Amino acid sequence: MALKPCTATTKEAKVASPNLPVLKERGQREVFCGLTGIVWLHRKMQDAFFLVVGSRTCAHLIQSAAGVMIFAEPRFGTAILGDRDLAGLADANDELERVVAQLLGRRPDIKTLFLVGSCPSEVIKLDLATAAEKLNREYFPQTRILNYSGSGIETTFTQGEDACLGSMVPVLPEKETDEPALMVVGSLADVVEDQFQRLFDRLGVGPVSFFPPRRAAELPEVGKGTKLLVAQPFLSETVRSLLHRGAELLPAPYPFGIEGTTAWLRAAADVWGIGGQAFEEAIAPAVSRAETGLARYRETLNGRKAFFFPDSQLEIPLARFLSRECGMELTEVGTPYIDRMLMDAEIALLPEGTALAEGQDVERQLDRCREAHPDITVCGLGLANPLEAEGMSTKWSIELVFSPLHGYDQAADLAELFARPTERRRRLSV
Ligand code: SF4
Repeated sequence: MALKPCTATTKEAKVASPNLPVLKERGQREVFCGLTGIVWLHRKMQDAFFLVVGSRTCAHLIQSAAGVMIFAEPRFGTAILGDRDLAGLADANDELERVVAQLLGRRPDIKTLFLVGSCPSEVIKLDLATAAEKLNREYFPQTRILNYSGSGIETTFTQGEDACLGSMVPVLPEKETDEPALMVVGSLADVVEDQFQRLFDRLGVGPVSFFPPRRAAELPEVGKGTKLLVAQPFLSETVRSLLHRGAELLPAPYPFGIEGTTAWLRAAADVWGIGGQAFEEAIAPAVSRAETGLARYRETLNGRKAFFFPDSQLEIPLARFLSRECGMELTEVGTPYIDRMLMDAEIALLPEGTALAEGQDVERQLDRCREAHPDITVCGLGLANPLEAEGMSTKWSIELVFSPLHGYDQAADLAELFARPTERRRRLSV
């Protein structure tokens, strides 16, 4: 084993009930694995390190997806399982301990070390939970060692964040009082987090914590009185673990676009008893900026057709935004899985009759997509190039997770991500 460091203007429309029929498919899937989450998580948690315990393939995936960090110390790397580890000729646990000692000896600034499991570590049944426990006894409190799985077996790529945050829930401090406190769950770009904090301040909602925090020392408290406002729709396990710790979920659509952001903020404002004019006044400047920015993209997108392949779990909220705020027609909205607890508020806003699909049978879905001939197809990288070659306009779903797109000030950027390729294709075909 060797350490490899890595250099609204809301459209009036009939909306669906949450009981919208769902086409369930269980066939071949085209998705990335949960290791991909490290790409945005290592930027968010600035004193954490992600040590993938995996193969050269895992190292290549994470290296090419995240690129090289030139100006900073790396915050992720791969402990590569060599032939001797995989064949059981070396004690992989001893090797892992040696690699961790080498890493932490060199990098005392690491406050949280995540051991990230992969397909190879799971195939050889490397018990990273026990390894993390043992290492934690040695290195905590200087460094906390946690573990989670980023393996590609039966996951979608955003589940990597869910697994990572889920591993942190047991170590969150217990909340000392029953007073209401808001916890925003899901990693957001720092700039977006700051915008939301300012909006909560204007509204008079607080105290507010963000999970995950930027630094390990800022782990938020959880317990009775904690109100969960979920920012990312793929955090099923994390949210359930937080509920088990006494928190309460505030069901709401996700903060994409003007309508989603307003409903999301309103869910919190209601708990703090802030409604009516006070609420409208607090959000008015941001809403007005967002409406101005969105208007020019609405013109391009209005009446055009969108098709979603299942990939990121953002499909339903994004489809709702494109339909209700940009006037697009939804030909099919595919999503890897539907967690009703986290998605009903969104499904209720989809237009009546939306073709909603859960899971994937990729060949059949490709046939439906070709037949629908959408103006834009949202899909994973593996499908994008072949579809472009067939003359379709595509948008990589992974880009929608990497980019800061939540909130009012990003509503126009979100619309632009769809408008740009649609417009480019239209010009090429003129
Ligand atoms: S975790 Fe599995 S799917 Fe992901 S890069 Fe490694 S081997 Fe491939």
